[in-house]
Amino acid sequence: MYCPAVTLTEKIMARAAGKKSVQPGDNVWVQVDVLMTHDVCGPGTIGVFKREFGKDAKVWDKNKVVIIPDHYIFTADSKSNRNVDILRDFVKEQGLKYFYDVIDDPNGHWVFDPVKGNLKKQYGSNYAGVCHTALAAKGHTRPGEVLLGTDSHTCMAGAFGQFATGIGNTDAGFVLGTGKLLLKVPETMRFWLEGQLQPGVMAKDIILHCIGDIGFDGATYRAMQFQGPGASSLSMDDRMTIANMAIEAGGKNGIFEPDEKTFAYVKDRTTANGTKSTYDPLFCDADQKFIYDKKFDLAKLEPTVACHPDPGNRKLARELKSVALDRAYIGSCTGGKTSDFLAFAQVIKGKKVKIDTFGVPATPDVVADLRAAKLDGQSVWDVMVAAGVQLTENPGCAACLGGPADTFGRMNKPLKCISATNRNFPGRMGHLESQVFLASPYTVAASALTGHITDPRDYVS
Ligand code: SF4
Repeated sequence: MYCPAVTLTEKIMARAAGKKSVQPGDNVWVQVDVLMTHDVCGPGTIGVFKREFGKDAKVWDKNKVVIIPDHYIFTADSKSNRNVDILRDFVKEQGLKYFYDVIDDPNGHWVFDPVKGNLKKQYGSNYAGVCHTALAAKGHTRPGEVLLGTDSHTCMAGAFGQFATGIGNTDAGFVLGTGKLLLKVPETMRFWLEGQLQPGVMAKDIILHCIGDIGFDGATYRAMQFQGPGASSLSMDDRMTIANMAIEAGGKNGIFEPDEKTFAYVKDRTTANGTKSTYDPLFCDADQKFIYDKKFDLAKLEPTVACHPDPGNRKLARELKSVALDRAYIGSCTGGKTSDFLAFAQVIKGKKVKIDTFGVPATPDVVADLRAAKLDGQSVWDVMVAAGVQLTENPGCAACLGGPADTFGRMNKPLKCISATNRNFPGRMGHLESQVFLASPYTVAASALTGHITDPRDYVS
């Protein structure tokens, strides 16, 4: 039995710590269900693990470590390629079960093929794309569990009713050796969502609105709990978009209460991938105590933009017509899901983009979906290419965080870009003087057509 007056995050942390209840501010040792790392932080994490536990040490549970190369993959940069080699060697040494390598040969070495270039497929059958989207797609996100990852957007898995947060390499090295971590229980802010989104408004607008309300540091080390009929009405993709950006307000985690949609999604993905299908969900109590509790009427939201230079710099798309753009970008864990591309394609179908526009699917499944899904008889993939979008078959983080100079879509000059990604601090997508405006796939698409920031409601019936 757990103390009734606790929030969902507190409940999950209490159970993972073997306690009846916890309070915000408590420091508790939490048992970890899944630890994820990738090519940027994995080598450092492995280094910490070996230094602290010994060069012959074994990880605490080889079935609970998930390694997903995704950040600097499709590049000729040799240091980036070497990072993936380090992951591959560690997986072999440890006998890890879940490694989504970019090549099929466990003794091989990936090399950029300039003939295929950035657009043509350059990966094998195990590659899974962007880590957070891949974690869900491969069945590693389960209600009630604790998922830690060496990436700040690990909070995306809170969409599944689990405690999920990003940690540093030192903590991750410790988790590799012990399977547990000392964590401070965060206070919880509740965002009560009610009403229905109007045409042209998306989940991305909800989270940009919420972050704009509290500021980019407004949830620092707090849980952001999204609840209410408006939250229940959202798809799992929408919930992922929202939970993903909790960190953009400084949040420790974002979380939704699990429901039938969650269970169906998890069942599909664990069944398809043979990942662990059992879990014990936890639900919201009626008398939870929050540090902040505010209602948001989704019907009143309008297409929203987070302007340069931070995700809390909120304005409405219709107020920004005078902002001329050089580039549009759709992709990332937040904005590169199938539903994001479908929304984008609905806006641009039969038209031509006016500015350089890049599309990077989050996972290989998204690539397949875009080839299979039809809009008036034409594949979504073909709709986008016909409109002039540079669409790559190589899923990954790409220009979401800049990357090496040859990264697809990277801003190597001081350009202005409207982007379906999640972060826009200076230099995030490349050049330090470039400017990034965060928006929904609808708004990015409408803006790509006009060359300036555009309210998409003229294009969406
Ligand atoms: S797509 Fe962007 S936000 Fe997501 S994991 Fe990659 S770099 Fe981070």
